[in-house]
Amino acid sequence: MMIEVNQPIKRELFINGEWKPAKHYKEVKSPYSNEVIGTVPVATKTEVLLAIDAAYQACSKMVALSSFERAQILENLARLLEDRKEEAAYIIAREAAKPLAFAKAEVARSIETYKFAAEEAKRIHGETIPLDAAAGGKNRLGYTVREPIGVIGAITPFNFPMNLMAHKVGPAIAAGNTIVLKPASQTPFSALFIAELLEQAGLPKGALNIITGSGSVIGDIIVTDERISMITFTGSPSVGIAIKNKAGLKRVTLELGSNSALIVDDVIEVDKIISRCITGAFSFQGQVCISLQRVYVHENKYDEFVEKFVKATKELKIGDPLDESTDISALISSQDVKRSLSWIEEAKSEGAIVMAGGVSEGDILLPTVLVEVNKEMKVSCQEVFAPIVVINKVNGIDEAIEHVNDSNYGLQAGIYTESVSTALRVADKLHVGGIMINDVPTFRVDQMPYGGVKESGTGREGIKYAIEEMTEMKLVVWNKEY
Ligand code: NAP
Repeated sequence: MMIEVNQPIKRELFINGEWKPAKHYKEVKSPYSNEVIGTVPVATKTEVLLAIDAAYQACSKMVALSSFERAQILENLARLLEDRKEEAAYIIAREAAKPLAFAKAEVARSIETYKFAAEEAKRIHGETIPLDAAAGGKNRLGYTVREPIGVIGAITPFNFPMNLMAHKVGPAIAAGNTIVLKPASQTPFSALFIAELLEQAGLPKGALNIITGSGSVIGDIIVTDERISMITFTGSPSVGIAIKNKAGLKRVTLELGSNSALIVDDVIEVDKIISRCITGAFSFQGQVCISLQRVYVHENKYDEFVEKFVKATKELKIGDPLDESTDISALISSQDVKRSLSWIEEAKSEGAIVMAGGVSEGDILLPTVLVEVNKEMKVSCQEVFAPIVVINKVNGIDEAIEHVNDSNYGLQAGIYTESVSTALRVADKLHVGGIMINDVPTFRVDQMPYGGVKESGTGREGIKYAIEEMTEMKLVVWNKEY
């Protein structure tokens, strides 16, 4: 079934390899134009349980596939997505108001993520254990194997609706698991589009089930059902923490938020880093989990950095996400515009200065640069998830390290420096999941280990690392002489 690029889309639930009509449907509207993009089912408890049952029953079919066969399904998917990449990008751009150029980049990354998953499907193995190293281990041969964990409950956010699904579905299939996936209510069409392609790619019926509807209703059923062995969640810290508290003995991977920071050392050529910093701060309106939110610039370079960053910010093109030249479009919801503006007002009332933006045009928040911000202001200590950047002056690297670490979050951080010893010291001292030397914290490619510490989450994605989370280690011991 083809999806027309500009026509309203009507989709059904994807359960046990069939498109199932539901009792209730909901309209999904464009965050930019408010036009109806299409309708999707609002799943009831009965339908969620059907999906879980289908995934549970399909486990035996997935276990029976060889690594080669699982890799082939993923390769087929990557090829099918490549064939329909324009359509896929329009779906993302329309449902998420992601500027088209960024939506196209997300589709390209999704294809690559599935290709990595196909490759990793062939590299899942254990190790031989030298059991005779123990006094009681003589004549024993031991080795481990990695087995699929079973049914995986996957819950995804709105901001990378296709690639973050790929980070769950890719490794789950590579490892021989089955999946029940709930996409974000604002961005269900990307997930349903991929389901359609996976059907054509030869995935056994029931191995992927997609249920749309309310996060709290569906989420609770998935998180508490005993047939589900693992929850993989990407989204906000509050929901992630609640999931972990309810999940009991299930394995839980949480990819949560952050207020990512960058340190700029004093011997840096500012002109060389401005455009990269703009990309880090404002891609997809700052709605990226590793968006650059806090910049700590050495006092010797502070004035120059602020002036050049503000100038470049004011040159960004605001507009329709479907226009290829747009840099910044609408935030995901009007509530997020209101929230962001109230945080800016709070900062201003306590002495912060707005150097750019600070106001909205409809649901587009203009890219905003703040200075004279203190660390207690929400724009600094909480995750803004909007195009807002705070630039702070520091007297040296130690002060910068202290500020970066003074956060409830710890996903990624970056530093620009010419000094190897400074870079090494910063890499040692920062308490985050990943450190980018001479880049913004926003750098990510899809095979790297990715995840955070503190309230940024637990567990790692990046196909190989996700597969470790999605498999159980089993030990086999042979007694060579009995
Ligand atoms: P969100 O509001 O937490 O929603 C994420 C998903 O959880 C959605 O599918 C949502 O469904 C569902 N959900 C809501 N309430 C739930 C509940 N009680 N139980 C189970 N599921 C529930 O997050 P978002 O606004 O979509 O995404 C933004 C957040 O994701 C930011 O904090 C961002 O930093 C984080 N993020 C992290 C990473 C990473 O890899 N670390 C990557 C991207 C985004 P509904 O849409 O139906 O409410």
